[in-house]
Amino acid sequence: IWATVLTSLKGALGANIFSRWIEPLEFSKLSGGVATINVPTNFIGNYVAQNFGEQIIYQLNKAGEDVQRLKFDVTDKITTKPAATRKVASADDVSGSPLDTRFTFDTFVVGKPNELAHAAARRVAEGGPVTFNPLFLYGGVGLGKTHLMHAIAHELQRQSPELTVLYLSAEQFMYRFVTALRERKMMDFKQMFRAVDVLMVDDVQFIGGKDSTQEEFFHTFNALVDGHKQIIISADRAPGEIKDLEERIKSRLQSGLVVDLHPTDYELRLGILQSKVDFYAGQYPEVSIADGVLEFLSHRISTNVRVLEGALTRLYAFASLVGREITLELTQDCLSDILKASDRKVTVEEIQRKVSEHYNIRLSDMIGPKRVRTLARPRQMAMYLAKHMTNRSLPEIGRRFGGRDHTTVMHGVRKIEELKALDSQIADDLELLRRALEE
Ligand code: ADP
Ligand code: MG
Repeated sequence: IWATVLTSLKGALGANIFSRWIEPLEFSKLSGGVATINVPTNFIGNYVAQNFGEQIIYQLNKAGEDVQRLKFDVTDKITTKPAATRKVASADDVSGSPLDTRFTFDTFVVGKPNELAHAAARRVAEGGPVTFNPLFLYGGVGLGKTHLMHAIAHELQRQSPELTVLYLSAEQFMYRFVTALRERKMMDFKQMFRAVDVLMVDDVQFIGGKDSTQEEFFHTFNALVDGHKQIIISADRAPGEIKDLEERIKSRLQSGLVVDLHPTDYELRLGILQSKVDFYAGQYPEVSIADGVLEFLSHRISTNVRVLEGALTRLYAFASLVGREITLELTQDCLSDILKASDRKVTVEEIQRKVSEHYNIRLSDMIGPKRVRTLARPRQMAMYLAKHMTNRSLPEIGRRFGGRDHTTVMHGVRKIEELKALDSQIADDLELLRRALEE
């Protein structure tokens, strides 16, 4: 039965995920609706339970077993594995975030806004003597940071399969750290991280503020740099702008090469869309796309590549469904929400200016650090308006308010939402400001 389940899981999850996470498992026993599965490490057990638990239970039931729950037993019995599998399994001990197979250098479109970041990533992926260490990539949401990191990992693994390349999100790093603390496995934790050849941590802005994680991150970081191991870090802002990050960590992060991904421009958006169209031509051979649609989208859609891709995906799915060509007209119908969202041309800066004028405060105070009520309220108003009138993300808005954290922005927005319902003066002010800004 386990063999049947394995086959189904392989089909459902794909060969990659399967060999990474499911293959190291060993079916142990079944009793009272509980299936016991042996796992080589606690981490794999937790990860599998969280991500594939439901699937496994479903497949077991489909295969005719009455299973309600899974139990994972950590055992060191699972040691006799062929070398190749063992390599994967040991990498699994430290890995938390699987790589997206589509994120390679081949699929990354290079343009002016990202050429430096791309060149640096290429250089690091060539391996050889460590040149830029750490490499720090930063930029707004959806500009390709994760894509570049995965591309580096794929390339390194292709060229030097013997290297242990570890990619994980900062959240995974923290999660692993906290788990190790709780299970009193700090020694293992340290050893595992320090055994890697290349460490990549994505979105480190999330590490700011979590003191003990920062500390451990810093030590891991130092140990790796001292051992001449390559480190690649990404964040949504520059090292110096990460909130609640200790100075020594900031300066350490800046000690290698810091490159940023700029917001996409028209040319790059068009290039990306063109490459996606080539891809979709294979997937939806029956759908054709009219001249001018890509130009229209590049012109009208914001800088976030994820939004751009989402738009195209929706167009193809829709056109295929209704059996029509993707024309400008269909595009406008099908994407009216996205187009409307990027129509708003108000900038955060304009909002800040208007709100400052309205409340008679200085613009520098609006974005400055002072927290007195007379400044905080207008600031929150401006954050609220920025959230609703621009398509900037919370971290981006925060950055424009003197480098504030996205949670601060979120708090501000909520506060105004609350007050708006209670205080008619605030509601009136908002309406007035909104109209003034829309002119
Ligand atoms: P970030 O991590 O910076 O938020 P991602 O790397 O997740 O952004 O990119 C978002 C999406 O846009 C992904 O699907 C990615 O493949 C795509 N993308 C971003 N930049 C490019 C590019 N230059 N060429 C091709 N695809 C890109
Ligand atoms: Mg990312």
